[in-house]
Amino acid sequence: MKYVDEFRDPELAKATLAEIKRITTRHWVMMEICGGQTHSIKRFGLDQLLPEEIELVHGPGCPVCVTPLEQIDKALAIASRPDVIFTSYGDMLRVPGSGRDLFSIRAQGGDVRVVYSPLDSLKIARDNPDKQIVFFAIGFETTAPANAMAIAQAKNIGLTNFSVLVSHVRVPPAMHAILGSSANRVQGFLAAGHVCAVMGYWEYPEVAEKYKVPIVVTGFEPVDLLQGILKTTQMLEAGDYSAENAYTRAVTFEGNKPAQEIIARVFKECDRKWRGIGTIPMSGWCLSDEYTEFDAESRFDVSAIAPDESPLCIAGQILQGLKKPPQCSAFGTLCTPENPLGATMVSSEGACAAYYRYDSIDLPQGD
Ligand code: SF4
Repeated sequence: MKYVDEFRDPELAKATLAEIKRITTRHWVMMEICGGQTHSIKRFGLDQLLPEEIELVHGPGCPVCVTPLEQIDKALAIASRPDVIFTSYGDMLRVPGSGRDLFSIRAQGGDVRVVYSPLDSLKIARDNPDKQIVFFAIGFETTAPANAMAIAQAKNIGLTNFSVLVSHVRVPPAMHAILGSSANRVQGFLAAGHVCAVMGYWEYPEVAEKYKVPIVVTGFEPVDLLQGILKTTQMLEAGDYSAENAYTRAVTFEGNKPAQEIIARVFKECDRKWRGIGTIPMSGWCLSDEYTEFDAESRFDVSAIAPDESPLCIAGQILQGLKKPPQCSAFGTLCTPENPLGATMVSSEGACAAYYRYDSIDLPQGD
């Protein structure tokens, strides 16, 4: 398959690995931002093949994992209402709230439907005028354009029975939060290629310069990841603290301008809480003033919900690169994909799920 097979070429991967080994002179800690990259790294065993001086830690770029518990609990409360059809991407249905998940709401008779596009929710709204249709609009810069388009379309056609529970987050403020922490270990970033396909990487040079870390836009196939790691290592070894693009077949510096424009029209920047991490200033998108009529939180008045997180879950530390999944005392014992305590064990992009799936022979080490 063009644009995939050549980036899984074993000979190219071996040559890139050899070059990483050749130039590495000391220990470096790099963070891959995206959970999809974490899964590729574990799936292809790249972390085992790298020289031991290169340590990969796993970033917060898993939208399901960082959606705050109170937003999940609000989704559960809204989805429980008999007048509501609740629509969501499939990943969210098994994410535990304070004791239940959307699957259990559906098992109890709630009308919870998986959609593959927010536009599917608009069709459901048109087909069910006597019901309120709520779409769970979560995710990073990647899903924001389609979600924004659906909201704009709802306004254009005058839909009054459609609303969105918004929990959008942005990558650059998370980078600032990680790098600005006194506990930070990250010395270089592999930026998420699909996020940059939308947003470009014009926001990153300032981050790289401020914190003295190289940032390399990186794809998702094994050779993509190794090339991103090689570029980051070259820059670290040379003391080059800038932003570079190792995913040129999909990403430009400016990004997708029409997509950025629809985001800017429908959303505005706001403070956002990240599950396990806490509130990061101006790290999210909320509905802009022109579109507040589509805000499910005010339509259903779910502001008083108080969440109850498992005290065992250290997902917040994992998502900041401070710990790895086997260091959680519940990993593989109290917390498994079948009985998850945290979202990082559920999501197809979650770091705990990646370690459980691909490193299942590892025994939990505890704290
Ligand atoms: S193993 Fe489970 S409880 Fe531990 S950090 Fe991961 S999701 Fe949380």
